[in-house]
Amino acid sequence: LEVNLVPMKAIEDEWIGLVIVLHDITAIRRLEKVRSEFVANVSHELKTPIAAVKGFAETLLAGAMNDAETAKSFLQIIYDESERLNRLIGDILELSKVESKRIPLQFSPVHLSSFVGKTLNMMRSSADKKEIGLEMSVDEETYMEADEDRLRQILFNLLSNGINYTPEGGKVKVEVEEVPGATQGEAEKIRFIISDTGIGIPKKDLPRIFERFYRVDKARSRSSGGTGLGLSIVKHLVDLHGGSIRVESDLGLGSRFILELPVIQS
Ligand code: ADP
Repeated sequence: LEVNLVPMKAIEDEWIGLVIVLHDITAIRRLEKVRSEFVANVSHELKTPIAAVKGFAETLLAGAMNDAETAKSFLQIIYDESERLNRLIGDILELSKVESKRIPLQFSPVHLSSFVGKTLNMMRSSADKKEIGLEMSVDEETYMEADEDRLRQILFNLLSNGINYTPEGGKVKVEVEEVPGATQGEAEKIRFIISDTGIGIPKKDLPRIFERFYRVDKARSRSSGGTGLGLSIVKHLVDLHGGSIRVESDLGLGSRFILELPVIQS
């Protein structure tokens, strides 16, 4: 609370009263705090890969280059960390765009069964590496109005997580259902269920996983190439579509992300 005291004087410097202005600055302070925390997080996240690149390059220059095996493994680390930096910067830019709502969405009719099929094909090679089965269940007749690129990004982020956090031999699935509205026979919303048979998310972490840089297990997220921003980007894109997203999970058994978007954008 900010308090301002303003004395009120009449002509001859004679006091006639005091105006007390009480300003509730909680919201402003909170916003400032969130912003400075974000900057601190971003700096920390960027520093980690840069430190690795610098450190391994220095060691190579100091002589490690002479041993071909060592050199190769250090160069691989430098390459991987540069990739991480690239992804991180891409995600930070994307997040700042969707957060400032500066991206105009371009809505068009989307045929969901071909859309989901194509998106799953993009994930095929990373799923195959872990022998993870990809499944879909979408009715041929289902259409919705959406920004196709953004919708793909939502699905892509959720599927990448499904694959990342599921051990070898598991399953990741996309189901699409129409949710009926008040008018009989007309769907009002489309429900996407993206489920996996992965490691699951502890109950206490569930409310926080859509926050920027929030990870249940930092080491696991890092080693699987995560930036900690995927779900917060998803949440913003879902909001821009006027939809909602929630998550259910059983530790050790798997997770289900339930996404609901309006069929028609108004
Ligand atoms: P990351 O890049 O770390 O995956 P996200 O924002 O996409 O960041 O997800 C935030 C965190 O939520 C992850 O670090 C992980 O701990 C958890 N998480 C997300 N999706 C899943 C999933 N399908 N199964 C288990 N944990 C998940």
